[in-house]
Amino acid sequence: MSCIFCQIAAGEIPSEFLYENDEFVAFNDIHPQTPVHILIIPKKHIVSIADLADEDVPLVGRMMAVAKKVAEDAGVAQKGYRLVMNTRPDGGQVIMHLHMHLLGGRKLPDRMK
Ligand code: 5GP
Ligand code: ZN
Repeated sequence: MSCIFCQIAAGEIPSEFLYENDEFVAFNDIHPQTPVHILIIPKKHIVSIADLADEDVPLVGRMMAVAKKVAEDAGVAQKGYRLVMNTRPDGGQVIMHLHMHLLGGRKLPDRMK
């Protein structure tokens, strides 16, 4: 499997997981955009929200619950944070394995270009 996030999730690329359960892992982004920049990914290879099968919709809800916990553990829950899922090229998606950016640790701009 040549997908880098599948390799990270499988432990084939050594990474420090901030969170792991049977379905998801969370780890620091290699090029952080904010003081806290964590990626949350499913272990299952799903390409993007645009490719989501109906049967995987509940998985995204569970992913949100993981984001909530990871934000608390990272110490940004009280002040707030932003969850972003870039989708396909116009959405800025580079890694074609579903992932959620958890951005925080400073006041973020009001609007994205
Ligand atoms: P996208 O633009 O696809 O939404 O975001 C992909 C993110 O993955 C980028 O923020 C990029 O810095 C991060 N990334 C790419 N390769 C790696 C990697 O090997 N390890 C980690 N930790 N992050 C990565
Ligand atoms: Zn993958």
